[in-house]
Amino acid sequence: MPDSRRVGVFGGTFDPPHVGHLVAARDAREALGLDEVRFVPAHRSPFKEGDAGTAPDVRWSMVACAVAEDDEFTVSRVEIDRPAPSYTVDTLRLLSEREPEVEWTLLLGVDQWASFADWKDPREIARLARIAVLTREGRNPASVDPGVPVDRTVVPVTRLDVSSSDLRERVASGRSIRHLVPEAVRAFIESKELYGPC
Ligand code: ATP
Repeated sequence: MPDSRRVGVFGGTFDPPHVGHLVAARDAREALGLDEVRFVPAHRSPFKEGDAGTAPDVRWSMVACAVAEDDEFTVSRVEIDRPAPSYTVDTLRLLSEREPEVEWTLLLGVDQWASFADWKDPREIARLARIAVLTREGRNPASVDPGVPVDRTVVPVTRLDVSSSDLRERVASGRSIRHLVPEAVRAFIESKELYGPC
């Protein structure tokens, strides 16, 4: 019998997607031997309730631009097509039902891991997927204890100090985001006049 397919689920707001996301996904794929990393843009994060942000379909399109050149990266509509808020446990349940043969790994940045106890059904999440915590901007998950007794693997990620909020600020203040996002994403942002300048 062939080994089951290994797929990483990489959730986020991706407003916009940037090189930090892509490098994290690449490092996780290599370290964990994943066949695919599936980017899952949230319809609306339960933790960004009051934040209107960029429309879900627009963020989905930016992620599609960002992953277009990489055969092992894909983008899913599983959260975009469900009513908000987007709970990871529901997403993993749906994915497991649709593709029962897949071995799922949830990829989490250390900032998300720190608040994992506040997520809906963290133990059920850990039952549905292996949990891999990615280092971010020098922050090591080993020093973070969310207080939930679930197993996790730590994945060291090449350090890149870049965040979506920083990129939005750069555009709003008329600074360049060239080389911090794939060129297709930069062109998309420019053509849709996202994020200002205000
Ligand atoms: P914002 O600045 O708006 O909060 P963000 O840059 O953190 O956005 P998200 O879409 O919230 O981007 O992040 C999705 C996932 O990618 C999270 O797990 C986050 O930890 C991870 N991530 C984001 N930026 C980096 C980075 N520079 N290095 C490693 N992981 C990152």
